[in-house]
Amino acid sequence: MLEITDIETFYGPSQALFGVSLHVEVGEMVALMGRNGMGKTTTIRSLFGLTPARHGRIVFEARNLHRLPAYRIARCGLGLVPEGRRCFPNLSVRENLVVTARPGPWTRERVEDLFPKLAERRRQMAATLSGGEQQMLAIGRALMTNPRLLVLDEATEGLAPVIRQEIWSALRLLKAQGQSTLIVDKSLGELLPVVDRCTILEKGRTAWTGPPEALDSSVRDRYLGV
Ligand code: ATP
Repeated sequence: MLEITDIETFYGPSQALFGVSLHVEVGEMVALMGRNGMGKTTTIRSLFGLTPARHGRIVFEARNLHRLPAYRIARCGLGLVPEGRRCFPNLSVRENLVVTARPGPWTRERVEDLFPKLAERRRQMAATLSGGEQQMLAIGRALMTNPRLLVLDEATEGLAPVIRQEIWSALRLLKAQGQSTLIVDKSLGELLPVVDRCTILEKGRTAWTGPPEALDSSVRDRYLGV
């Protein structure tokens, strides 16, 4: 459903991506991996037109996204959970959810079933939530747009272990329900059992792609430094 081919992206004069390729098929969960600064966030920013790629191809459901403005891309059926969450701080939890709603199988009730904490906290301002609750809200808000492809950038980073586990349970459930997902995350222990494929970036290039079983210690040592 998503095919990114050989994209090159720049921040002003400085080149960050030198040829990134990856693909996601319907119902798959694909991990985008690599050490810090290798280009994961830039790849996601390019996909969403936030830092447009200068060269290469981005095709989503047979539609060419390359050079479409960000607001048009957001309407194509892609939902982003950005790094650092970014909920609307002065709206209530429930308002944060309904403000992005688009018709489809994901309703407020279904999101609140997935994250019961969001129902408990429905009248609170988003700014008063814990970091983990804000992350749940960010995921819930992206789901409310009924994305055919959900994209998560570091959704569990810096969260307390209990909350992380809740988010991973939700992600496993989404996967079981057939939600197509592209995910950036450093928690290999949770990530590898659930993903169908891993794409590893090294210095702004796709360096390795394969199933999680093939990600052996030599690949890990070489590209992930763990
Ligand atoms: P991390 O795991 O630390 O988030 P990443 O793999 O997501 O890393 P990117 O944030 O995409 O990596 O960064 C890729 C490269 O682009 C890095 O060399 C980084 O310094 C550079 N870069 C990122 N954002 C900018 C920016 N706004 N202006 C200039 N260079 C940037």
